[in-house]
Amino acid sequence: MQKLYFREGLLGTDWARDIRMDISAEGFLVSIETDVAVPEGSLQLGVVLPAMPNLHSHAFQRVFAGLTEYTEAGQSNFWSWRTAMYQFAAQMTPDALRVIASTLYIEMLKAGYTTVGEFHYLHNSHQDMALAMSGAVIAAADDTGIALTHLPVLYQASDFGGKKPETGQQPFLHTKEEFIRLLRILSPCVQGRHMLGVAFHSLRAVREDSFGPVIAALEVINPTAPIHIHIAEQMSEVEASLAHSGKRPVAWLLDNHQVDDRWCLVHATHLVEAEWQAVAATGAIVGLCPTTEANLGDGLFPVPEYVACGGRWGIGSDSHISVDAREEVRLLEYGQRLARQERTVLSAGQGGHTGLNLWATAAQGGAQALAQPVGSLAVGKRADLIVLDTATPAFAGACHGQIMDAFVFSGQPNPISDVMVAGNWVIQKGKHAAEDTIFAAYSTLVATLTKYKDTTQ
Ligand SMILES: [Zn+2]
Repeated sequence: MQKLYFREGLLGTDWARDIRMDISAEGFLVSIETDVAVPEGSLQLGVVLPAMPNLHSHAFQRVFAGLTEYTEAGQSNFWSWRTAMYQFAAQMTPDALRVIASTLYIEMLKAGYTTVGEFHYLHNSHQDMALAMSGAVIAAADDTGIALTHLPVLYQASDFGGKKPETGQQPFLHTKEEFIRLLRILSPCVQGRHMLGVAFHSLRAVREDSFGPVIAALEVINPTAPIHIHIAEQMSEVEASLAHSGKRPVAWLLDNHQVDDRWCLVHATHLVEAEWQAVAATGAIVGLCPTTEANLGDGLFPVPEYVACGGRWGIGSDSHISVDAREEVRLLEYGQRLARQERTVLSAGQGGHTGLNLWATAAQGGAQALAQPVGSLAVGKRADLIVLDTATPAFAGACHGQIMDAFVFSGQPNPISDVMVAGNWVIQKGKHAAEDTIFAAYSTLVATLTKYKDTTQ
């Protein structure tokens, strides 16, 4: 049994002082007490917060984050970014993916993410390679200590109606039979703190008759396993859906499938009121990726209206243009402030601290989306936590909930000093034990990849 003492911190949605946590050998919180005296000889750590689940990641995209920020031949939209993404996807091998994912997962741990939902569509086509690519992701999680919810992605078509895939989409493809076989083979490989779920890339990339058999196969493996899908990210997708079925994407999904609290609707940017009300009623999570959505020019999800209906949400770093949980929730709030010309939009009512509410809500939503026992510091949850260095100037004068507000809105540079996953310290004094080795391998790898052509030169 491990005993930890903290000066103060966030327990559920409440601020507490003089906290003691008892952690089992299996890495779970078995007892939490507040207002306790620290025994002589024991160390009292500073401010403790629940770690943040990152509910949406495409690890390989880390390698070109920041390399597509210029205009090419008048094309600078989501779809031109996607063409660049295909160029990098075509070069990925299991060894390369393992190095990239390991680097990214260390960056995530340092930023306070301890669980990652890997929305994994880079299968490299045939079965043996698909297993090796999933194996690379699992190995990267094991190498770094992060907890993984592995979400192999079914990808079959280039547009609604089962349209023939494009050349650049070849590394992503499976038939539904191949995909179900992959799930069955992967199931015993995803163990311990890791979880296996499934993802449908999008309504445009999956045949309508594939959803039912894949969900049925997943339910045999685990009836509560998570189900993720990209949906309604771009207006052109909404228009294509209307042209194909006469329904908007979210409306079509809700009409044709039993969406419930296992589901995570990633982006869901372009909704009408009836859709956000219906999503809220399902208990599903909306997976918001504010920095990626801003970077790709997607649009703004109507968070306050959705939350007012009881809607749940979490955050993901998606394309990894940013790997910083604080920046995701901060931008989420700022987008709403700019759109409404108001302040403290997501503060959970009068007197609520916006930073505290954003962090606690996103952590709980992310935990549900990834079907992981995290998201708050409470008995029975896994001991995934972060410790802040409050000696930095950003926290001067802050107490209680203001510490959370300072952490989210003004804590520059990153004030996270230590990070624990399942009772093990994986970041200490801001450093991961394997980061020098893994970051060096990453630099070598990136130098060997075909350089992305900057045509502005
Ligand atoms: Zn995505």
